[in-house]
Amino acid sequence: MEGVLKVNKSLCDVCGTCVSVCYVSAIVVKEFEINIDNEKCIKCLNCVKVCPFEAIEEEEK
Ligand code: SF4
Ligand code: SF4
Repeated sequence: MEGVLKVNKSLCDVCGTCVSVCYVSAIVVKEFEINIDNEKCIKCLNCVKVCPFEAIEEEEK
């Protein structure tokens, strides 16, 4: 995968499921918003698979 991962804020309900499956702690909750640190992310795509709302999307750099 070439792009970066981004959370679609209009789909995400901040359930926290993605945070718990990220081995490298690249997903952080801040002020009721989920953010992905693409410097840390190893693109395992666990978060994409577990999100019940398909809120995590790939975005071109
Ligand atoms: S799993 Fe999906 S809906 Fe839940 S916090 Fe993560 S991005 Fe948001
Ligand atoms: S793809 Fe993997 S490493 Fe990257 S944010 Fe999602 S769970 Fe974490």
